[in-house]
Amino acid sequence: MAEVIYIFNYHTNTVQMVEREVVKALKLNLLPPSKNKERLLSELFSSVAACCNEILSIAKSKSPKNFAILHNTSYPIIRQKYSLHSQILIDCIHQVWENLKTCKKFNQVPIRFNIPRSGKFSKTKRGNPVVVFASFNGNGRIALPIKQDGAYNRFIEHINNGWKCTQFRLHKQNGHYVVIANLRKKFEVKQNYQAVVGVDVNSGSFALTALRADGKILKQLYLGRDIWHKQWKFMKRRSKLRSYADKGSKRARRALKRIKCDERNFVTTRIWQISHEIVEIAIRYDAVIAIEKLKNLRKRNGKGRKPKRANRKIHRIPFAKFRITIQSVAWQNGIDVVEVPAVRTSQKCPRCGYTSRKNWVFFDNKRKLFRCCRCGFECNPDRTASLNIATLALERGIGFSKAICTPAPVFQSWRGSQPPCPAR
Ligand SMILES: [Zn+2]
Repeated sequence: MAEVIYIFNYHTNTVQMVEREVVKALKLNLLPPSKNKERLLSELFSSVAACCNEILSIAKSKSPKNFAILHNTSYPIIRQKYSLHSQILIDCIHQVWENLKTCKKFNQVPIRFNIPRSGKFSKTKRGNPVVVFASFNGNGRIALPIKQDGAYNRFIEHINNGWKCTQFRLHKQNGHYVVIANLRKKFEVKQNYQAVVGVDVNSGSFALTALRADGKILKQLYLGRDIWHKQWKFMKRRSKLRSYADKGSKRARRALKRIKCDERNFVTTRIWQISHEIVEIAIRYDAVIAIEKLKNLRKRNGKGRKPKRANRKIHRIPFAKFRITIQSVAWQNGIDVVEVPAVRTSQKCPRCGYTSRKNWVFFDNKRKLFRCCRCGFECNPDRTASLNIATLALERGIGFSKAICTPAPVFQSWRGSQPPCPAR
């Protein structure tokens, strides 16, 4: 197999390391700008939005195959029409390209700046921090003072710890201007392990299996079972509020908005906490973390058709968010995350390998039990899935260690099969 990656059980004496880049976004609050700057900023925002819409209409009519084609067709046109800084124009094209499939019209676009080409962080003569960026051609750069609060202190702490900022975005939120800075840092991550922790993310919880290189199960557990319960409570509350809001209650409508934020915050916080727990377990067993590849998720959940709207709203853990979180936490702790292309992991029997949907036993239309039709193996279906993911990762890793002769192919195979960090 070409894509196999990991070395288990220390077949080589030296510990191999690779670099993984962690990306973070930090918010910085800005002090209110002067009238002149405020006017300039609103002109800038409307001009960028218009520019993005123009690029979007070009993209829709020409339907370019890749970014370079879009760039070549649209850049000369917008260059003539808008007197924006050239780097801002390029960032506009990027923005449109990234949102091409989902966006119909841009109302307000966060403006991106590239350090050092169109913006930078700096200090005034008095030593106050400012963010400086380009605007229209021939207009010079604008400097906006940064509020020196907790967010700023956190940002400085990161910079002092070796995080690099190469890009930031200017947003307007509820009348205030904020800067979202993209920070990145490379971490050394180990490639030799004695075990693997398979994680199955299902509708309401995380199932974990720690599997030793010789196939012995070290530990199985569930994390985050409270998430489903809490989401269910949110759902109940939401449906009640919705019925009031439909009858015309403004208070209910406001509460609905709030509850949406609360729920999102709750799930995000729990995902971070659980990622830390998973990484702790991985460190304890000297294990690499294995998760499913995102591509197969949709297929498995929907059984080919989309789940009902109500269902979709209640119990669901955002897998993409979890993947980014676990990678971030694991890499910062020197543990790697491997994605296995897990097709039908929840249907396969871990004992005899018989794969069928008939292995599921339903109660009240819910998948409650895994029972193998061939050998009679019984288990919780989520636990089965996590075990299968771990086994898959292990098989691929061991397959590799037999063929290994020099460390070089490891890096090569990584480069060929999948990018080690989120793109860009
Ligand atoms: Zn079986």
